Amino acid sequence: NPRMRVDAIISEPLITHQRVTKQEVRVRVGELLEVVGLHHSHAMRYPHEFSGGQRQRIAIARALSTRPKLIVLDEPVSALDVSIRAQILNLLKELQDPYHVSYLLIAHNLATVRYMSQQVGVMYLGRLMEEAPPGELFTNPLHPYTKALISAALPAHPRRQREEIVLTGEVPSPLNPPSGCSFHPRCPFVIDNCSIQVPELQEAEPGHMVACHLYTAIRASRPKVTAP
Ligand code: SF4
Repeated sequence: NPRMRVDAIISEPLITHQRVTKQEVRVRVGELLEVVGLHHSHAMRYPHEFSGGQRQRIAIARALSTRPKLIVLDEPVSALDVSIRAQILNLLKELQDPYHVSYLLIAHNLATVRYMSQQVGVMYLGRLMEEAPPGELFTNPLHPYTKALISAALPAHPRRQREEIVLTGEVPSPLNPPSGCSFHPRCPFVIDNCSIQVPELQEAEPGHMVACHLYTAIRASRPKVTAP
């Protein structure tokens, strides 16, 4: 709320969820402002007096005020100037250990996802298509959609050769998703079963989950190992 002062913005969840005296609130707000790289005197100001990056710092202070175990970061830096995105991402990373907080990050920028995450899930039309740690997912993407996303991003090195997958067609409405695998109208590897059956999320390689019929077929053809 732009009409609220910064101290009211940060302390609102605190007052709503915890029993705290006015004096405690004032001290906590001052501490939180310093923790996110602002000055305790900023508590008396209004949001329009701050830059985009500073406003994001205020939002982080508010989110931390009740010491939650989990914070949902929905596109936390996409509205910010590129030059200050790294500052905010680094601040979020630095705060994780002292505040014992986990983040659920929602982002479209692959560099942000790779830099911030310990586990990555790739969603398409509201379904989880692939899940793996970032080192594995970005070097060994298995799902055709993930492959296309990564091939559309800039390579880490200009001389590095990459398989190029260009997707055609529009993204269908999530309210009326295609039958079977919702990616099938745009998938370059589509097979017969894809428009009929929804692929289940299964482990294709150790610690690497994928929802795609191509890998279901590979799994089925593997010889079963039975105990002697
Ligand atoms: Fe493509 Fe079929 Fe795999 Fe879906 S299930 S990603 S349509 S190959």
